[in-house]
Amino acid sequence: MGTIGYPQRRTIVTGGLAATAAALLTGCSSNAGATPAAQVGAAGTASTPSPSASAPPASPNAAFTRLMEGNRRWVKGALLHPDQDPRRREAVAEEQKPYAVVLSCIDSRVPPELVFDTGIGDLFVIRTGGQVVAPVVTGSVEYGPLTAGTPLIVVLGHQRCGAIKAAYKALHDRTTLPGNLQSIADSLRTAYEATVAKKTADPVDTMIRIHARQTAAALRTNTSLAPLAKKGDLGVVSAYYSLDTGRVEVLNGAPAA
Ligand SMILES: [Zn+2]
Repeated sequence: MGTIGYPQRRTIVTGGLAATAAALLTGCSSNAGATPAAQVGAAGTASTPSPSASAPPASPNAAFTRLMEGNRRWVKGALLHPDQDPRRREAVAEEQKPYAVVLSCIDSRVPPELVFDTGIGDLFVIRTGGQVVAPVVTGSVEYGPLTAGTPLIVVLGHQRCGAIKAAYKALHDRTTLPGNLQSIADSLRTAYEATVAKKTADPVDTMIRIHARQTAAALRTNTSLAPLAKKGDLGVVSAYYSLDTGRVEVLNGAPAA
């Protein structure tokens, strides 16, 4: 078994996931239990206690709980900045086991590591304008669940999303966005049509929420991820981030305890 290359999907989906991943992802896969957080700094001074001092959460619900705890700290301004010290860097230098995938917008105000108060080695993060997906993006989302056993995907839309606002306007006015921006609008057409059918007072905000839900549903049921979701090994959550409060609101798909 080589150490480089993309895994055979069939092999992974039908079993042997951990072993396959371990072989394929040298330097890029699990190392559970070897994630010491810096409790004491080099000079002997106490540093921030890390929630990741123990093994990373292994179940969808545990991963979801960890993320939402981090978001509560972010909302309150009580950040712990876990896993952001040299010892953590060293602990995950050879292998990683992120416990969640976050698919979010490129918006400069929505950095997942801050919004969920996480650190190095905690998250796979994929960001596109309006968190739209295309095959290469979906492949990046699948990477964690299919190769490293990552138990949770969060599709994170956000308040006042400029990409979705621009796409809404272009689709509504039947105009074309400049350059490759039009591809974002094209990717949002399904959400746009569902939004128009709803006839709400704030269609852009409605479209943001619908798009997050649709994206999560598509990931949850695609041929690669559906087997994991059905077994309960993977949760796929859609969520909405408030720029005003910092709070992450779950739209659907919260994993059962
Ligand atoms: Zn956005």
